[in-house]
Amino acid sequence: MTVKHNLTVGERMRRTEEFEVIIVGAGPAGLCAALYAGRGLLKAVVLERGVPGGEMLNTEWIDDYPGFEHVLGRDLAARMTEHARKFAADIRQENVESIARRDDGIFEIATTGGTSYEAPAVILTAGGTPTKLDVPGETEYAGRGVSYCAVCDGAFFKGEIIAVVGGGDAAVEEADYLTRYAEKVYVIHRRDQFRASRLLQERLFANPKIEVIWNKQVREMKGTPAGLETLELEDTVTGQASTLPVTGCFVFIGFRPNTGLVRQHFEHDASGYIITDDRMMTSIPGLFAAGDLRVQLTRQITTAVGDATTAAIAVEKYLADRRSALDAKAQVGV
Ligand code: NAP
Repeated sequence: MTVKHNLTVGERMRRTEEFEVIIVGAGPAGLCAALYAGRGLLKAVVLERGVPGGEMLNTEWIDDYPGFEHVLGRDLAARMTEHARKFAADIRQENVESIARRDDGIFEIATTGGTSYEAPAVILTAGGTPTKLDVPGETEYAGRGVSYCAVCDGAFFKGEIIAVVGGGDAAVEEADYLTRYAEKVYVIHRRDQFRASRLLQERLFANPKIEVIWNKQVREMKGTPAGLETLELEDTVTGQASTLPVTGCFVFIGFRPNTGLVRQHFEHDASGYIITDDRMMTSIPGLFAAGDLRVQLTRQITTAVGDATTAAIAVEKYLADRRSALDAKAQVGV
């Protein structure tokens, strides 16, 4: 017998699943939020477009996660995933397209796979993406000389000669920071002046371990299977090519928080980082944010899991308050 209905093919293919909380992104923040949601016995799902682990998967060695003196990024990612699953985390490979809050306070999350996820609370842990130079060798030497995080990787370059690329606050500040490890730090900038704040510039110019290379663009990164050896440079004024021998290259040419999925306006700073309260709730009620996409002083694995712990526990309280409010409304209606 043929069942007849009025749904379009698209509507028939789109499934809706309901949860108490949806966690978007499975980096350290997302995995930790899942662990705490599991401990809180919340009906939760984690949506991750790739493999769980986030930026940990782009980091060779991690030396600053308490309890792990020296651990491979991918190993820590696997351990965090396993730990979250011990608390029944439901981690699904889904590419989130949009997050929208309805008037009844329920969030609708659309995915490219066709499943629609609904919940009264969402924890956004989608991280951010460092801007890449997009030159030959950059991907090849990522984690073997090329880095996007001075605090994470600086200690691996003790006594070495390295370069920083960029001319903004991040490049200038991190170049100064890296001199505590490196013997010499070249700062390569494509123009003849920095856009970084004057205070940071003054500190940089006063640092004898730093040499600025003006008007140069990195065109290629070269090395051996053991790691990076040289940067191939081009003068942005004369076009002249040159080679700079370095064993490390830190790229700081911008960082974009992955917040474009949220359809409603939320409070953010001038660079697009989400502003939250001390419970990690954004200006959209029920939308929490944790990790790299949140406004904060530093972006570490430790801070990401701290944010996520707060967010997941705050979600429990938010859901309880919401239930009480709905019950009270229902009683008034009786
Ligand atoms: P940014 O201010 O956007 O600076 C990016 C820098 O990278 C610029 O100097 C830019 O050159 C250069 N650049 C961009 N694309 C490039 C490319 N393809 N090749 C070579 N160079 C390229 O980014 P940011 O330094 O990451 O800072 C982002 C935000 O965070 C800013 O608002 C900053 O104030 C804030 N921040 C603040 C602090 C602090 O206050 N301590 C620390 C870090 C970041 P041009 O100058 O030629 O455009």
